[in-house]
Amino acid sequence: MIGGGGREHALVWKLAQSHAVQKIWCAPGNGGIARDAECLKADVSDVPALAALAGRLGPDLTVVGPELPLVGGIGDAFRARGWAIVAPSGQAAQLEGSKIFAKEFLLRHEIPAARKIGTFGYASKACDALRAVSWPLVIKADGLCAGKGVSVAQDAASAKDFIERALDKNELGPGGQRILLEETLEGDELSFILITDGQRYAPLVPTRDHKRLFDGNLGPNTGGMGAYSSDELLPPKLRATILETIVEPTLRGLAADGIPYQGFLYIGLMLTKSGPKVLEFNCRLGDPETQAIVARMDFDLAEVLAQAAAGKLDASKLRWKPGASVCLVLASAGYPENFETGKKIEGLANAEKIRGAKVFHAGTKRDGDAIVTSGGRVLGVTAAAPSLGAALAATYEAAGNIHFEGMHYRKDIAGHVNRVHATGD
Ligand code: AMP
Repeated sequence: MIGGGGREHALVWKLAQSHAVQKIWCAPGNGGIARDAECLKADVSDVPALAALAGRLGPDLTVVGPELPLVGGIGDAFRARGWAIVAPSGQAAQLEGSKIFAKEFLLRHEIPAARKIGTFGYASKACDALRAVSWPLVIKADGLCAGKGVSVAQDAASAKDFIERALDKNELGPGGQRILLEETLEGDELSFILITDGQRYAPLVPTRDHKRLFDGNLGPNTGGMGAYSSDELLPPKLRATILETIVEPTLRGLAADGIPYQGFLYIGLMLTKSGPKVLEFNCRLGDPETQAIVARMDFDLAEVLAQAAAGKLDASKLRWKPGASVCLVLASAGYPENFETGKKIEGLANAEKIRGAKVFHAGTKRDGDAIVTSGGRVLGVTAAAPSLGAALAATYEAAGNIHFEGMHYRKDIAGHVNRVHATGD
């Protein structure tokens, strides 16, 4: 397993339950993953070093969590050596690595998405284009920007500020050297993730994440403060529309363009009045969505992933617990800006005594016998239950057992706010 966040902990935890799995290594892993896997030091952006590590260890299968090694071509590097890996090719990963590549792909294959206004490499040209747009306007840095590359600008002044920060002041780094302007879509968002072996595909259960820091979807964007899954998010008619108008044209488009895609494909959707439209592609599983998805898995993940890597995906193997699941992120003081680390975490064992609850680690490390914080997002408290209400109750009850200095979390995952206030939390 490559990566070291809550997503990877959830995957490692599930993989470890498979009879086919004898040993898991995780590079770099974290304090919680260390219970289920041997953690090894690694830089996830260094594909040659990761290949050298895999060459030494000889795993039967490699699973990749984060986007950096995927966009860096780890899928190609491993397959060229004949090693099984769940990872799209570097070219396919451009669907996430370049917003402009993704937009051209969507246009070429007539897949519903936000209308493109233009792409720009010079701030003056981009600012000229602002005269003819309606507000709010979405501005996207082309490349990877660690979650800071999108602005929904309410007016020309804030648009100009973002454009200049990206193109003139280089504040977003190399990912911000070109930008894309597009129309703003309105509606509810839905994360639709599938796994494909290049020929066949299988959708995972639908999820909705919560990117803003504060309750009521206020405050700055984060890597994700929580997510939930419930079949009610995706009624059968909507599911059929998404498969017909988005998923299948996307997979056909990749095949027509000669781009092999094997691995997870995350389609971020806006459910607009005129139907579902693509907001973004990610070439990997999302975090914290993965934690909610894994909580509902009722199948042997190792078997399914090995089959996907071998080009033999059997979609009938993916079985899901009915009901719902919730993942609530417990974050450090200061996150998503500068945050504190090294705080002792208490109450983990009691949290996991709550029926259906599991605590995945995102930013933790071992310090002697203790587990201490080491990241902005520290833990993903996750629970599955027969109903969304029961999953929420178990999640918040489990979270109530955990404590570290400066800990904060959203109280309103899946619209939980009324329930929490009613009980005086
Ligand atoms: P992205 O990285 O492209 O997913 O964008 C991050 C977030 O920005 C999305 O999850 C949406 O909340 C928002 N977003 C992106 N594109 C649009 C759009 N065209 N209209 C409205 N919101 C958008």
